[in-house]
Amino acid sequence: MHQVHRLVSRAVLTAVFALAAAPLAAQGTVPIDDPAIRRAFAAIQSWNNWIIDNQVSICEIPAPPFKETARGIEYRKRLMALGYSNVKIDTAGNVVAERPGRGGGPSIMIAGHLDTVFPEGTDVKVKRTGTRLDGAGIGDDCRGLAVVLAVARALNEARIETRGTVYLVGNVGEEGPGNLRGVRELLTNSYKGKVDQFISVDGTGLDITARAVGSKRFNVVFTGPGGHSYGAFGNVPSAIHAMGRAIGNIGDLVPPTGMKTTYNVGTVKGGTSVNTISPDASMEIDMRSESLENLEKMDQLIHAAIAKAVAAENARWPGARGQISVRYDTIGIRPVGRVIQNDSTPIIRTGLAAAKAMGFTPDVGASSTDSNLPMSMGIPAMTIDGGGRGGNAHAAGEWYDDGQDGYKGPQWALLIVASLAGLVRSTTP
Ligand SMILES: [Zn+2]
Repeated sequence: MHQVHRLVSRAVLTAVFALAAAPLAAQGTVPIDDPAIRRAFAAIQSWNNWIIDNQVSICEIPAPPFKETARGIEYRKRLMALGYSNVKIDTAGNVVAERPGRGGGPSIMIAGHLDTVFPEGTDVKVKRTGTRLDGAGIGDDCRGLAVVLAVARALNEARIETRGTVYLVGNVGEEGPGNLRGVRELLTNSYKGKVDQFISVDGTGLDITARAVGSKRFNVVFTGPGGHSYGAFGNVPSAIHAMGRAIGNIGDLVPPTGMKTTYNVGTVKGGTSVNTISPDASMEIDMRSESLENLEKMDQLIHAAIAKAVAAENARWPGARGQISVRYDTIGIRPVGRVIQNDSTPIIRTGLAAAKAMGFTPDVGASSTDSNLPMSMGIPAMTIDGGGRGGNAHAAGEWYDDGQDGYKGPQWALLIVASLAGLVRSTTP
């Protein structure tokens, strides 16, 4: 997740309250002046400590990739405690609360991800120092999970009615190894056809991810006969030498022009001993781009570079017994967007308008998140930050600081959800 930190001054806060009283017309389609929204904003601010307590206690339940079950069961319990009677856990382990709308509006799914990058056995105790929290996953994505709970509570407590149904979700499988299996299950199976727009709340800050950086990741495995470094010299090709040639070729590649496109050999493994012509070698490769065309081109260039290297190693020892062969194991594929969204795409416009009504201006960027999947299906989607500030995501020393105005994250999320789902305007103050 990208991290952009933004401090909001007291003057801006004052402006928020001034704006809350401004007429609807001034806010475009964002109903920040509605009495129910005002109740929800006030409520969120008043139980900010509850949000933080949830963020901390959820985070102290370990959730390594593919082992999100315990955290998911607890998340379901907490949604039910907020008055959601029918909270389901689908076959992938996604937790989904459904808040039916009155009809006539789009259905909105808002999700935080349950999984972390941290392996089993990681110390998940959160240390609290004033408004600062230190802990594994505390920002990415315990913050998002806490924000979704806050939205769930505020919708009920402020008696907000929407036209479209709102799905409040804790999903599995966002991080690398999970390969988006949670949202994939939700949107292509368990809630297939039921979600018109998708919002992921991921990480800290107050920015928007509007575009999907797609990626392809492979483990490339080279195998050969292997042999003694002295006795078999000249009689067998080397898997390590072949891979070395491949890395040399890849290092010289020029990515396609246009949208930013990248490649990286991230890890290498292999070999038996210093005096063995290696029978095996492997490397992990990552390629990324926002453009499907560029990603495919990059993929072809990498494949060609590797094929050329293997052919060269095999040709080096013409009389050799056995040859080097190569295999590609897919580690992960993150899809790019079907359409490349921008600031004028309606869902992004709503995110920006809600922020503007609250007195801040998000950066709009590209990243690789749960929203990649809906974007690839043509479902309007965005990933928003959960408020506060944070750092060291995916690393030891991850931290979150709620500061003086962390509550703006959940307020923003709530305003976006109510705007997109179509707020049924209150008749009572
Ligand atoms: Zn995340």
